[in-house]
Amino acid sequence: MGGPELNDHELTPDQKADAQAIFEGRIEGRTACHHCAGIHYHVAKLPMDRQPCPRIKRIEHHPDGSRIAVEYWQNGSWESDVVFPAEAYEEDPDT
Ligand SMILES: [Zn+2]
Repeated sequence: MGGPELNDHELTPDQKADAQAIFEGRIEGRTACHHCAGIHYHVAKLPMDRQPCPRIKRIEHHPDGSRIAVEYWQNGSWESDVVFPAEAYEEDPDT
């Protein structure tokens, strides 16, 4: 087994079905991240507006609460698994 799996992990059919259900709004309380449009499984317990997005390096808020700047990590340089729609809907060549 190699090191951490980043962006080349294969989703199981169950994980794909679960992710598709979330993207399609079929699971109450679960939506894609409004920052990166992906799903973070590891922070599923938190409400959406409290979720830390592993893609965000720095976020800056205006005193009125609105977001004025968001800086993202480069593609592939975040540590946590994020499932994006492209992966959830990827055709499995074996099926
Ligand atoms: Zn995110």
